[in-house]
Amino acid sequence: MAVVIDGKQVAASYRETLKERVTALRARNIVPKLKVVLIGDDPASHSYVRGKERAAQEIGIDSQVLRFDETISEKELLDLIDLMNEDEEVHGILVQLPLPKHIDESRVIMRISPEKDVDGFHPENVGKMMLGLDTLLPCTPHGILHLAKTQTEIAGKHVVVVGRSQIVGKPVGMLFLNESATVTYCHSKTKDLGEMTRQADILIVAVGRAGLVTADMVKPGALVIDVGVNRVEGRLVGDVDYEAVKEKASAITPVPGGVGPMTITMLMHNTVEVASRG
Ligand code: NDP
Repeated sequence: MAVVIDGKQVAASYRETLKERVTALRARNIVPKLKVVLIGDDPASHSYVRGKERAAQEIGIDSQVLRFDETISEKELLDLIDLMNEDEEVHGILVQLPLPKHIDESRVIMRISPEKDVDGFHPENVGKMMLGLDTLLPCTPHGILHLAKTQTEIAGKHVVVVGRSQIVGKPVGMLFLNESATVTYCHSKTKDLGEMTRQADILIVAVGRAGLVTADMVKPGALVIDVGVNRVEGRLVGDVDYEAVKEKASAITPVPGGVGPMTITMLMHNTVEVASRG
């Protein structure tokens, strides 16, 4: 029977250290400031942003949410980003994705100053991460790495990542590779997914399909990190058949309460990092 990794608890103790760092910064008259841009009325985006606001408040970060109707033009949004880039009091800028169809997401991401890119999505930060340089890391992958480290050594482990998105799959594999894991990526064109996942010492699943990974696809004793968030009959579930896989894995993250709280915490971490650079 697996250890259930309590992401909420790991996140809470990490936030305690962030609180101390914020107190020390405030004593030097530096108030970490995060600006979040929220466009439209997507309920999931609103809920994520509320979570970010709550976490910022708890840690002592000054956060401000700028809400816009989805009729905002791309130019208006880019002009707003320019203003925040220039504002020395703003440490972190986050534009909540997805954006309305008429706005080019990559143009928006690239407009945010890499120094204030607390999501870690700017190509300059992605490139630095790839090179193993110190930089602002993408929040979900960074949170996953931190959770995994609470359970096991990473070096030499075979990590299988299912999913290769720009925000989770690809970068999380890169972070584990930087920690000297052996990394295999799987995606929708992978021929025999089970044959791959059964080789994983650490299995990371980031697809967005409930029940994709069943117990027969998991090696006994594996560490299983379920990133997926799916709504099934009004309930949130991951991509892994949790009840069955729990019997086989050595440790597993629940959904909700696993990776999610760590994602928000790493966003706070990045904001504090930028503020600490002075
Ligand atoms: P994307 O839709 O961008 O990527 C999904 C990936 O899964 C793609 O690479 C796709 O492959 C792959 N895939 C699709 N079907 C299969 C299949 N049958 N077998 C193997 N691989 C498959 O999703 P995201 O990475 O943005 O998010 C993944 C999940 O994680 C979602 O449920 C999302 O809600 C959740 N999430 C959770 C976060 C958290 O903090 N808890 C944060 C971010 C995301 P291909 O590239 O070939 O199309």
